[in-house]
Amino acid sequence: MVLFKSFHPRVEVPEDITTWQWVFETKEFSPLYKTPREPLAGYVNAVTKERLDWAAVKTTATQLSTALVKEYGFQPGETISLFSTNTIWYPVAMWATIRAGGRVNGASPAYNVEEMTYALKIAKSRFLITLPTSLDVALAAARNVGIPRHHVFLLEGKADGCISIQDLMKRGEKYTPDPPYQIPRGKTNKDICGYLNFSSGTTGLPKAVMLSHHNIIAQCHQLRQIQAPGRYKILAVMPLFHITGLVRFCTYPIFMNGDSVMLPSFTMESMLRAICEFQIQELILVPPIIIRLVRDKIVDDFDLRHVNRWSSGSAPISPEIIALLQKKFPWTGFRQGYGATESTCCISAHPPSHYDYKYATTGGLLVANTEAKVIDLTTGKELGVGETGEILARGPQIAMGYLDNPAASAETFDKDGFFHTGDVGHFDAEGLIHIEDRIKEMIKVKGLQVPPAELEDLLLGHPEVEDCAVLGTPDEYSGERPKAYVVVKDGVQESAEVARRLLKFVKERKVRYKWIVEIEFTHQVPKSPTGKLLRRILKVKDKEGKDR
Ligand code: ATP
Ligand code: MG
Repeated sequence: MVLFKSFHPRVEVPEDITTWQWVFETKEFSPLYKTPREPLAGYVNAVTKERLDWAAVKTTATQLSTALVKEYGFQPGETISLFSTNTIWYPVAMWATIRAGGRVNGASPAYNVEEMTYALKIAKSRFLITLPTSLDVALAAARNVGIPRHHVFLLEGKADGCISIQDLMKRGEKYTPDPPYQIPRGKTNKDICGYLNFSSGTTGLPKAVMLSHHNIIAQCHQLRQIQAPGRYKILAVMPLFHITGLVRFCTYPIFMNGDSVMLPSFTMESMLRAICEFQIQELILVPPIIIRLVRDKIVDDFDLRHVNRWSSGSAPISPEIIALLQKKFPWTGFRQGYGATESTCCISAHPPSHYDYKYATTGGLLVANTEAKVIDLTTGKELGVGETGEILARGPQIAMGYLDNPAASAETFDKDGFFHTGDVGHFDAEGLIHIEDRIKEMIKVKGLQVPPAELEDLLLGHPEVEDCAVLGTPDEYSGERPKAYVVVKDGVQESAEVARRLLKFVKERKVRYKWIVEIEFTHQVPKSPTGKLLRRILKVKDKEGKDR
């Protein structure tokens, strides 16, 4: 059996405590027991500077949890959905849910009524906490799934007929709190789901991933092992409802006794201002924001010499952008994290020894206690160094499964404990992981696999191409053939001549079955907020074009 193993020493992960007990009650881990205490560490609003230190988080979350239990009968195992942008109260609501033994679920505030209805349904939510700006969608979706109106609260602010969690905290104060939820006898924290996170919905509808208390604690221990030294301070640019936000901005900062600075609404200017005001040294970003860092003029108005590393994850980033980033900020280091919602964030990442642009196109090294296999896409045979196939990963951060979806769970999490990532890639001789594409996106030409990302990378290197997306288009003879949607650079005229040049460019560099058969010009290729190419949307468009 060809098993790739982490090079890092094993980390010990406690199995008998909840995440609440781990950060707030356990002397060994809680910042509240650290001496000297870092008095100001906590969640901070980047704009108003409002701050909740860890002691205040514990108090407010206890009050909220108590109100939910005593006045609304909230029970262990029930779900509360948070439907909000980033605020310091988001993690308070999260901790309140966890304290009571519930399941916290984050949903994108960009969802419309239909999407939110689906989200509440698959997460089986009993309560919904939102912001005044999202209240209309929240109420309509709550009605659709039978969540009573008085189970919809505001995370902050005011709106008619809706009470806020601050009101609930005041009510909770009246009671003696119950002790925090404990892992039942005979079980471990691996058996208890505390977090329901949606996958991004890149390849289909989002799935409700069940994460255990163990998953979260393990991932934080794995990340601490590869943390650069110094006081931890992070800017929460990415949304808290996504797995990265849940781990990196809501949970890990307490464990690290650091600051999590919440950016309430993202603009390049608000982000850059916060980076400077709070002297943030480490940024966890996604490719679309990194692209803007190297392109937007406004960046030049800010002095970013205190930033010492960029981190990118969630989606592939092109070598061209990495090179531009290094050129623009030569004093910085760069790392990637690779993983999925089903792996509580990272399967691999670069440790401080690898915060170097020369490793930047890889997904880093397996984090502690993690093993991986690469299997052939057609035969399932286990592959070795340098051989490309599906990446499978096993470790304490691998999720419990999908809520109420045993078929999908059995397909994705095998009986040996491996998570089938659906990603195609390989390990090199140094143990660095290289992600090449996704299985679901592979184009099959006469039974041969063509990874669209390989052709996109090639086209992006052409001087006339600004952006592009390649997908399989039906072909009578071959089954499928690659077709490219291309956005041309400013100043380039879309023309049959340009298309011919691009087709020739590919022909000269790739074997015949990978040749692109058609170029269609477009103004934009559809992408998710994290920069993932949404090929399924293009496929629909392509099909509509063909049917017309
Ligand atoms: P869905 O499973 O609902 O289709 P999704 O897989 O995009 O959506 P997430 O769990 O948010 O949802 O994303 C995980 C995926 O993101 C990985 O499987 C991988 O394809 C991609 N990814 C994450 N990190 C990286 C990275 N550093 N480089 C390339 N791709 C990455
Ligand atoms: Mg996925």
